[in-house]
Amino acid sequence: MIRLEAYREIAPQGIVDFLYRMAEKMQGKKIIHVNSTKLGGGVAEILRSLVPLLQSVGLDAQWEVIGGNEEFFSTTKAFHNALQGQEQKIPPTMLENYLEVNRENAQNISLDADFVVIHDPQPAALIQYRPPKGKWIWRCHIDVSQPQRKVWDFLRQFVVSYDGTIFSLPRFAQRLPIPQFLIHPSIDPLSDKNRDLTPEEQQEILRRLEVSTDKPILLQVSRFDRFKDPLGVIQAYRLVKKHHDLRLVLAGGGATDDPEGETVLEEVREAAQDDPDIQILLLPPDAYLEINALQRAAAIVLQKSLREGFGLTVAEAMWKGKPVIGGFTGGITVQLVYGVTGFTVNSVEGAAFRIHHLLDNPEVMNKMGQDAREFVRRNFLITRHLGDYLALINYVGC
Ligand code: UDP
Repeated sequence: MIRLEAYREIAPQGIVDFLYRMAEKMQGKKIIHVNSTKLGGGVAEILRSLVPLLQSVGLDAQWEVIGGNEEFFSTTKAFHNALQGQEQKIPPTMLENYLEVNRENAQNISLDADFVVIHDPQPAALIQYRPPKGKWIWRCHIDVSQPQRKVWDFLRQFVVSYDGTIFSLPRFAQRLPIPQFLIHPSIDPLSDKNRDLTPEEQQEILRRLEVSTDKPILLQVSRFDRFKDPLGVIQAYRLVKKHHDLRLVLAGGGATDDPEGETVLEEVREAAQDDPDIQILLLPPDAYLEINALQRAAAIVLQKSLREGFGLTVAEAMWKGKPVIGGFTGGITVQLVYGVTGFTVNSVEGAAFRIHHLLDNPEVMNKMGQDAREFVRRNFLITRHLGDYLALINYVGC
């Protein structure tokens, strides 16, 4: 079990004692988190650390994962795309399947707790089966600043029955008759994804992945998803390549609740056109140390998303002292303070310009990387996130 004590040296001073004090009133309270995948994607990444930490401060924290058939995950991926603004047609039969799968899950999962947090649209309809006791919160991790109306209206009928919602940014808030809370996601500095690696560990991993460090590495770590704009990354790399000899590594894999990855991966492979300096790495969802080593090996990390809920990969790279160039969207904008902790960009050309600029100015890269790490320490570590949850549980009152 992860023990909060271990964070004393790494989190901002005083926070560990503060967290113990906050948790005093909540000893033994049962809190259940529910999402739709154990592996892959930002939500699973957070829950892997957050749930043991909640336990370590004395709460009875559990993590449940809903199941579903192929049709269900196609429907919820379409929800995801529609909520992030893409036009989607979802026939009524798919909506019925969505409701049916939620009904089955309600029978299979224990939902009896003082505090239940339902993550994202996939399990949102579970609220229909809430037991009489306990407070229920719907946490939305995606960018819902411009949702497709029909899909949002469908989900909204469930959301309004919750005791509150959590969004990752103020601009994602909706017109709702229930309280809306703002909580930024976070990274765990002691997880295998983010902990320090010895030079030997790092070399061994890079050797195994066949990643060569003879040239500066440009890296994007992302599911193969159009919103992450992997094709835009390749275009930006090509523009920079005219002036700088560098490598591009696109590392990604699937999440078990994302059925679109294969198609996008094919498009990426085609765009890479056998360029020996572009490496596409398909990683299993538990490749934590591999991603850690890649982020540490990179000269510059990109997250050129067109839409993004938060973008944990940005904080992960910043924590490793890397300058990050990210799309001006969603949570990337709160992590990358322009010109200080990174650069946000609005186009392929903008990304290429900033990559070029950084490669020409290694001292800027260094300073930006250091400032980025401190910014993450103060704002985006799991300890802050734990405090936000404890405050919310206390506020909502259970
Ligand atoms: N990730 C991973 N393997 C991959 C791609 C991503 O483990 O092949 C991790 C990544 O390091 C990060 C999380 O999955 O921790 C992705 O979270 P983010 O918020 O960046 O995007 P999401 O996938 O949730 O849209």
